[in-house]
Amino acid sequence: MHRARKRFGQNFLQDQGIIYSIVSLIQPSADMHVIEIGPGLGALTRPLLSNLDQLDLLEIDRDLVTYWNEQNLSGLKVIEGDALKFDFSEWAQDRKNRKGLCKVVGNLPYNISSPLLFHLVSAAQMIDEQVFMLQAEVVERMVAKAGSSDYSRLSVMLQARYDMEQVLEVPPEAFDPQPKVNSAVVRMIPRDDFDLSNIQWSALEQVVAAAFAQRRKMLRTNLQAFADRLRLTEVELKARAQDISVDRYIEWAKVIAA
Ligand code: SAM
Repeated sequence: MHRARKRFGQNFLQDQGIIYSIVSLIQPSADMHVIEIGPGLGALTRPLLSNLDQLDLLEIDRDLVTYWNEQNLSGLKVIEGDALKFDFSEWAQDRKNRKGLCKVVGNLPYNISSPLLFHLVSAAQMIDEQVFMLQAEVVERMVAKAGSSDYSRLSVMLQARYDMEQVLEVPPEAFDPQPKVNSAVVRMIPRDDFDLSNIQWSALEQVVAAAFAQRRKMLRTNLQAFADRLRLTEVELKARAQDISVDRYIEWAKVIAA
């Protein structure tokens, strides 16, 4: 018997209907390369493996790593490690040499979800799709559009890199132990029109962080440091960070990086 560890964000999925929906969404097929972050006790792992030739698991909890190694399941590769430090680009690069899509999936530990999403950005050009269960509130911020109160730094940075869609809402009763918050499943597909260099991406991080530093203040104040380069319109000077579209932030990043 494994006792759920709070420090690893362990809330194990129990609801067979939800499990079925997530696995259908991933559409596993024999030649696909999938890495699951945090298999836990295998709610998603087992149904995924029955449709894949090979499945890689990345798990931080040593007891669970031992558990999976003892299962001796054909096609399963167990990697003990911290997803925040794992090199997803290298993993995908290696798989890309063979044919088949590369997908990263998981019911993620909520305590590390934002840093993990940012960590994965650096591998986006190698990944075909990500399907994650996250805290519903985080997913709402990820997909929020300009003008909405959920629109934030997370929305702009991730929408600059991915097309995203909230696909499922999941109540606490679907898990054991039950989390205190609602959950949601998000599908993330790296944008194929993404054309920012590393320098432009850093500029995007800077300008977005500055714009959202004080949400209620006008951009005239928040973007003062960039004012001479950006030439904001009168309307933009009076606007707030949440009113500016992702594309406009991208234009500004390009100007700053030039
Ligand atoms: N996939 C299982 C399920 O749906 O029932 C478990 C999900 S549970 C919310 C999160 C899983 O991620 C646990 O197995 C936990 O040990 C693992 N985990 C937590 N932090 C991690 C990290 N930094 N790197 C890799 N795995 C981690």
